[in-house]
Amino acid sequence: MTNAPQPRRPALALHGGAGARAGRDYAEAEAHLKALASAADRRLLSGDASMDVVEWAVAEMEASGLYIAGRGAAPNKAGYAELDASIMRGEAGAAPRRAGAVAAVAHLVSPIAAARKVMDETPHVMLAGRGAENFCRENGLPFVDDPNAYYRTPIGVYPDEMTQAELGHGTVGAVAIDADGRLAAATSTGGVFGKLEGRVGDTPLIGSGTWADGWVAASCTGLGEYFILAGGAQDVAARVRYRGESLQAAADGLIADVAAQGGDGGVIAVDAKGNIAFAWNSDGMKRAGVGPETELFAATF
Ligand code: ASP
Repeated sequence: MTNAPQPRRPALALHGGAGARAGRDYAEAEAHLKALASAADRRLLSGDASMDVVEWAVAEMEASGLYIAGRGAAPNKAGYAELDASIMRGEAGAAPRRAGAVAAVAHLVSPIAAARKVMDETPHVMLAGRGAENFCRENGLPFVDDPNAYYRTPIGVYPDEMTQAELGHGTVGAVAIDADGRLAAATSTGGVFGKLEGRVGDTPLIGSGTWADGWVAASCTGLGEYFILAGGAQDVAARVRYRGESLQAAADGLIADVAAQGGDGGVIAVDAKGNIAFAWNSDGMKRAGVGPETELFAATF
């Protein structure tokens, strides 16, 4: 007889943003998400920590240019990309939670790597603005050399000049539980199109865009202002922890509140039992998942 925790089958979910529009073709993003979920699942099955896997998956999505994060970020109204990201881990029992975030950092290649550095290397949870930029440079995190060549939306193309069909939002996120029962969540964004310079949404706010405790890890996407007003990712965990709701009911509950505030978007979540849940009230949410009860899949609508 041993009291050691039994290894379990890991679970994970990814999102590529809830800004998907009906009638558009997201096959490329879906194929990317499915391959990424499969690779992330293999890492979890081989014993990698959920923290490392969610950071890696989000970094891959940032680099792909397929989403409104990292390379796919769109400029703010002042004409340059300001990026936000956060990461958090939690586990059952007395193990302390840890989190890191960066907000409104211009032209960073991987905001999620910066969020992880804040978590690992500082006593703080979030760095913003010039201090965050200095911290990233001191820690050797790469910045974009030539923004016009790097970003998919050229810098200086102001959202006002874009057609309505081109506007949208498409944050990326990952949540996972590993074989040792540790939960983690990570989220990264270029924010919403047409945002004011200095605007920070839900994505880098621990509790709003990203949350992980011993019960639930969740990552949100959508109009960040409304997710902040509705309580965001932590609300999903609170519904499970305090009200005993199923993970899916908790995710639906958050999105109903976002809708009641007048907003739209979606959330992905995983719980300590390895359930995964997806909820959104926009046209669609690019997403993928795999877990004990869920065969590997990717979908948008
Ligand atoms: N939640 C992000 C923000 O408000 C945008 C998104 O999810 O696409 O910055």
